[in-house]
Amino acid sequence: PLERLLDTGQEPPPELVDVNTEEVSIARVYDYCLGGKDNFAVDRAACAAMMEVVPETPLLAQANRCFLRQAVTYLVAEAGIRQIVDIGSGLPTAGNVHEVAQEIAPETRVLYVDNDPIVLAHGRALLANETTTTVINADLRHPDMIFEHPEAERLIDATEPFAVLLGGILMHLEDEEDPEGVAASIRDRLPSGGYLLVSNTCDTGEARAQELGRVFAESGMGTRCFRTWDEQIRYFDGLELIEPGLVPNNRWRPGDDVPDPQNPAHAMHIGGLARKA
Ligand code: SAM
Repeated sequence: PLERLLDTGQEPPPELVDVNTEEVSIARVYDYCLGGKDNFAVDRAACAAMMEVVPETPLLAQANRCFLRQAVTYLVAEAGIRQIVDIGSGLPTAGNVHEVAQEIAPETRVLYVDNDPIVLAHGRALLANETTTTVINADLRHPDMIFEHPEAERLIDATEPFAVLLGGILMHLEDEEDPEGVAASIRDRLPSGGYLLVSNTCDTGEARAQELGRVFAESGMGTRCFRTWDEQIRYFDGLELIEPGLVPNNRWRPGDDVPDPQNPAHAMHIGGLARKA
């Protein structure tokens, strides 16, 4: 919408006033990696810098979407979940969480949360039916503001099982922003039978994973995007991991849509899903 508004010279809506086209946006870089059109030159340059180090960077983003679709399908079709909070939802893309979930069970309610104003603007345009799905602008670093938001209180019955998705977001928190503490506070909010999904880039120990982490940091996406498996398994403390556990995205109950499934680069993005007893 922003590019279209710039073209027409119209006044942008309030949520887009803050959009800075000179600064990298995580949501827009990810959109570009997935082949989307809602990005600016600065985002495309960041993606190009990543691809210089790891040409398979777009593959990692695509495999993460495959993992997300498989996990949401599991949650709704097998685990009977009908409420999903997707934090760091990103820009709308092919196979959005509400589309995957509501194709299986149309009554599933989905709350999208992101701190990038561009996500809110695009989400509002996409979501014609706000009875079951909505998008709010809030920050994972302040979970209270998410769960006490009037839209969260309207859509999510916190006494019934719900799933929280943290796809590709904890990686953008710095150590001092305490991603483990944030994950713990989300786990505390889950009722029995609730689920937590986490996926992030991973420091596999390979030189190129560390190089890619450096490029992420230089692009302003966070200095600790690549944490090790040992660091990330702690996000699930006290929960029961669903098989096959915390694994490269291409190995989590893969469908036939994973691109280049044997590519070793997949080890650099891992994900898992766990249930609260
Ligand atoms: N969850 C989607 C997925 O896994 O495909 C999108 C992941 S994208 C890499 C990360 C998203 O998290 C971006 O849209 C970004 O704006 C959002 N984000 C980053 N830090 C955040 C924060 N502290 N609070 C809320 N959203 C955040």
